[in-house]
Amino acid sequence: MSANRDINLAGVIGWPIQHSRSPRLHNFWLSKYRISGFYVPLQVHPDKLEVAVRALPNLGFKGANVTIPHKEKVLDIVDECDPLASRVGAINTLYFEHGEKIVGANTDVFGFTQALCSGSENIGLDNAKAVVIGAGGAARAIVVGLLDLGASEIRIVNRTYEKAVKISERFGKNVQPIKWQQRSESLTQCQVLVNTTSLGMIGNPALDLDVSELPLQATVMDTVYTPLMTPLLKTAKSRGNRVVDGLGMLLHQARPGFAHWFNHDPRVTKDLHAHVLSDLDMISG
Ligand code: NAP
Repeated sequence: MSANRDINLAGVIGWPIQHSRSPRLHNFWLSKYRISGFYVPLQVHPDKLEVAVRALPNLGFKGANVTIPHKEKVLDIVDECDPLASRVGAINTLYFEHGEKIVGANTDVFGFTQALCSGSENIGLDNAKAVVIGAGGAARAIVVGLLDLGASEIRIVNRTYEKAVKISERFGKNVQPIKWQQRSESLTQCQVLVNTTSLGMIGNPALDLDVSELPLQATVMDTVYTPLMTPLLKTAKSRGNRVVDGLGMLLHQARPGFAHWFNHDPRVTKDLHAHVLSDLDMISG
């Protein structure tokens, strides 16, 4: 029994799970920091989620990441949810305290703010106006990140308007729902634009957005990272906007989990970036 507990084990729970890049990046860190252990993909059907999550501490896991489609359902399973995950309404990281108690956290907010603000420029979001395209789980984490960075007005544009309204009701009067038909006009005076839909991803159509109203000083971020330079980012870059791709968020959101499970604060470095990117290049074909 106790021998099991000494093994450094973590994984990512999803359905399907083949697409996840998390094993590649966590196993890179395990090897780089010479920590013996394994980070494994765990394909778990939604009907088996609770049984699987409850089994993991008994199997010696230190914790796990949670991905699509389980991020919301797992809120009802954990023994404790940290305040940030409750605020977002989604969990992407699990910690097993003393090998038993299951605690849910959300590190997507951290991943987003680190990716947006890292680099040479300080983009200064105090009182900024932001536009978020999409109203799913990623959008909720990004709205929380933008509010915490000081944004004073966030316009949520979504194909299904009711979901944008729900986000606005959840986060208050600084978050305004916008109809899909008004997405291009919504960019007026915007300092940050973030795409959180899957449009622009390989196999999906590009995001159909006229950016002529977007100020040239605005930063444009895409959460999609296959391809790294989405059509939206290409257009924005060609007209002189600062662009941030989705890989930074993916890499940074993994840091708190790794640090907690394996007792080592990992770095997002150029070699990690290249390692994960080489795999994404293979997917891009
Ligand atoms: P989700 O909850 O399923 O939300 C999907 C969103 O995309 C919804 O707002 C949906 O609009 C919109 N959408 C999908 N197809 C569309 C279409 N054809 N036209 C217009 N809107 C469309 O998914 P999620 O968890 O938020 O993830 C969204 C994206 O973010 C994915 O591409 C995911 O890979 C990415 N992501 C990246 C990171 C990262 O670390 N870089 C982290 C999390 C997520 P409706 O409401 O109208 O359906």
